[in-house]
Amino acid sequence: MPTITLDNVEKNYGGETNAVEGLDLTINDGDFMCLLGPSGCGKTTTVRMIAGLENITDGSIRIGDRVVDEPSAQTFVAPEKRDIGLVFQNYALWPHLSVADNVDYGLKLRKLPKTERTERVARMTEKLGIAPYRDRYPSQLSGGQQQRVALARMLAVNPQLMLLDEPLSNLDSRLRLEMRAELKRIHAEFNATVVFVTHDQWEAMTLATRVAVMNQGVLQQVGSPMDIYDRP
Ligand code: ADP
Ligand code: ADP
Repeated sequence: MPTITLDNVEKNYGGETNAVEGLDLTINDGDFMCLLGPSGCGKTTTVRMIAGLENITDGSIRIGDRVVDEPSAQTFVAPEKRDIGLVFQNYALWPHLSVADNVDYGLKLRKLPKTERTERVARMTEKLGIAPYRDRYPSQLSGGQQQRVALARMLAVNPQLMLLDEPLSNLDSRLRLEMRAELKRIHAEFNATVVFVTHDQWEAMTLATRVAVMNQGVLQQVGSPMDIYDRP
């Protein structure tokens, strides 16, 4: 299980101020790290940089002992080579693929044998309760069902690292509670390392083993939920 290390990371999108500045953050094996803070504070930018969907402007990012982004050394590892599972707010399911084929997508990319793929798709759709919809297309599913497909697609590849950007924001409150419990269970069962973006303090307190609080592109504090809660 890799550790993610951000060392003095800066992101500038071309404007006067940096979206993220001087970010030093270590995410340990098995952490469920919540990035918490108000809209625009740099949470999404941070997970996108870890994923490799944005390059960093300065500093470095390591995953395990591999440097994945370090502009001064001209190092940049492409997102698909970082072995990270992603679930973002808009789910980004392939509209032209059935539920089963969406879940199969990453397995195909990784060229797993057909029998293995079939077995994993069956197991994951079962686990997330979407097996009855396996032949439907995303447009024929509710938001909550699409959410589950996105989670199944991510989990099918057994990612050591998972990045989730407000993945529950479009769900009704009952489903949101269910999915939080599901994520905690998955985190424990797979002993995964999770980075979870939220602007909801309560959500961070319930889910996280550690919380990183950001404000205006700067990391303000990092600690256990109790640490953060006790020091408002
Ligand atoms: P959060 O996820 O906490 O809401 P973001 O990381 O999305 O914050 O944004 C941080 C800052 O960077 C904001 O000021 C935002 O307007 C800016 N920003 C984000 N993405 C882009 C982009 N693609 N181009 C220019 N500015 C951006
Ligand atoms: P974002 O939505 O934040 O821009 P991306 O869409 O770039 O993130 O990538 C998120 C994940 O969704 C990646 O695993 C990528 O392969 C997948 N993906 C990207 N675009 C689509 C799409 N149109 N349909 C289905 N999956 C997609």
